[in-house]
Formats: sequence, C-alpha cells, structure tokens
Amino acid sequence: MQVPAHFEYQRATSVEDAIALLERYGPESRIVAGGHSLIPMMKLRLAQPELLVDINNLTDLAGIGVVGEELRIGAMVRHAELLGSVVAGAHFPLLHDAERVIADPVVRNRGTVGGSVCQADPSEDLSAAFTALRATAVIEGSTGVRRVPMREFFDGPYQTAVGPAEVLTELRIPLSCSATLAGSSSAYLKVDRRAGDWAVAAAAAVVQIDRDSVVTEVGIGLTAVGARQFVAVEAEDHLRGRQLAGEHIDEASRIAEQHCNPVADQRGPADYKRHLAGELTRRTLRMAAARADLAIAGRI
Ligand SMILES: Cc1cc2nc3c(=O)[nH]c(=O)nc-3n(C[C@H](O)[C@H](O)[C@H](O)COP(=O)(O)OP(=O)(O)OC[C@H]3O[C@@H](n4cnc5c(N)ncnc54)[C@H](O)[C@@H]3O)c2cc1C
Repeated sequence: MQVPAHFEYQRATSVEDAIALLERYGPESRIVAGGHSLIPMMKLRLAQPELLVDINNLTDLAGIGVVGEELRIGAMVRHAELLGSVVAGAHFPLLHDAERVIADPVVRNRGTVGGSVCQADPSEDLSAAFTALRATAVIEGSTGVRRVPMREFFDGPYQTAVGPAEVLTELRIPLSCSATLAGSSSAYLKVDRRAGDWAVAAAAAVVQIDRDSVVTEVGIGLTAVGARQFVAVEAEDHLRGRQLAGEHIDEASRIAEQHCNPVADQRGPADYKRHLAGELTRRTLRMAAARADLAIAGRI
C-alpha cells in the first residue's frame, strides 16, 4: 500500500489564518480541501508537502447564492452540493450537466469546486465549465483580494494564478447568460470510457441569442483536449453575430476541432479526441440552443 511521506498538519481557523500558515511554512506547505486529488498524489510521492493546511472548517468559503448580478460559489462547495443546488441549475444548467458526470458519489461528496480548478488537471470538468461561463476567481493573500478571470487563471497543466501563499475563496459567474433570461442557456457533454471516469473529451457551451437566433454572446469550453485555458476562442469568434443554426454550428465545431491540441494516452489516440472535440462542440451548442429556444418560446 502506498503511503505519503511524513508531513505536518494544521487546521486553519480563518482565511487569514490559512494565509499566515502558508506564508510561515513557505512553498513546501499546501492547502488541503477535499483531498481527492492531493492525497492520491502524496501517496504516489508526486507531491511531498511538509505541511497541509486544512481549510474544511472555513465557513467563509461555503455557500452558493446570487449577489447582485453574479452567482457566487464558495471554494469549499462540494461537487454534490453544486449538483443539488436549485439556484445554480436554474441559472446555468451546464453546471448540473457537468457535475452529474464527475466521478462517483464518494468523490462528489468530498471533492470541492475550488480544489477542482486549483488542481488544474487538463481533464477536470469544471475548468471548461467555468471558462465557458466567463467566471471570475476571487483569490486572497496577505496583500489583499484580487479577481482573476477564469480565462487567465490556468498557467498550464497543474498550474494556476493562485500563488503559494494565497487561497481561492470563491468563483463568481455573471448572470448575463443565465438560463432564466429569454434566449440564454448552456450545456455540457462528456465522453468517458465508463460511467464516472475522467473525460476522454468533453465540451461546454453557453449561448445568448436574440429573437432571430443571432448569437449575441457565446462561450465554448473544452476538456481534456489541450485547449488553451480550456476555451475554443476561435470558434466563439466565428459564431458571434451569426445565426445559431446548421452551417454556423458545424463551422464553429470544425474550428474548435482544428484549434485544440490533444495528446494520445490510455483514453485514446489524439485524432479520436480531436474528432470528439468537434462533435461534442456541435452537440453542446445544439443542446444549449434548444434550451434557449424553448426559453424564448416561453415553453420552459
Ligand atoms: C477516483 C476519482 C475520480 C475522479 N473523477 C473526476 C472526473 O471525472 N472529473 C473531474 O473533474 N474530477 C474528477 N476527480 C477529481 C475530483 O473532482 C476532486 O474533487 C478535485 O480534483 C479536487 O478537489 P479536492 O477538493 O479534493 O482538492 P484537493 O485534493 O484537496 O486539492 C487539490 C489542489 O488544489 C489546491 N487547493 C484546494 N483548494 C484550494 C483553495 N481554496 N485555494 C487554493 N488552493 C486550493 C490544493 O492545495 C491542491 O494542490 C476525481 C477524483 C477521484 C479521486
């Protein structure tokens, strides 16, 4: 059985306390949230922190709710809580689409939203979801609070804008593409080898259309196919100002397929993943369009 190397453990009493502990112990200290990514890495000795700072008691990092024009999701919100959140699902159906296919109930009961995006695994489902939604990360350190758009959050695999002595406290999603507004909706689709597995590929789509079905805003996220910041910017640019239908969706999907950069691994060859990126982009756009059309027609 694999066991981690020796480490110290401290339970933070506040966000400020967590930051102070991280500063005091330096880069060899790490936050532990759900522990579902960090602990397996420690067991494999891929991570060997000298101190774990446990943030599970920090109620400041809990909760989901609308404040002003944003949906706020605390970093310590568990996957299961997001999946069960009526308010999150009503505004952004893709959050429920994505959460439904993340791992299994054991992982979803423990793993957190903040841990998922801070882990920055290229196959993490919520990264593409939040970048498609143009969410903002709220990051706190000893010098204050800063906000980083999710489209600038990832510095590469397993690396993010969160500094060694900083805490991600919240994710904020603008309500401008909320599914409660006529003409807006979203969707997430994933291909995995078996239920609960990591993605072979997945796509997120967020659309806002006018009464003529012309795209006024669009977000396209891609998981596990090497898209920079998990976004298909070129495909988004193609769709904006065009009708969300037939040939334009097909062309956007072709562009998404062309601009991603998958690598072959145990989940499949690169060409297969590239094909999936295009096909899933097409299907999520159609699904989001159908949901938005229904909203315009007043049928949902
Ligand atoms: C068997 C299994 C299957 C899985 N399948 C999937 C899947 O299909 N799709 C998917 O998306 N994910 C999957 N996951 C990952 C799961 O979603 C984890 O919950 C997630 O990756 C990490 O969340 P965590 O809270 O456990 O983070 P932890 O493991 O506690 O932390 C992960 C990293 O983030 C840092 N961190 C955590 N919180 C913060 C914070 N607030 N501020 C700053 N840094 C922070 C930690 O220091 C660490 O570096 C799977 C995990 C397992 C074990």
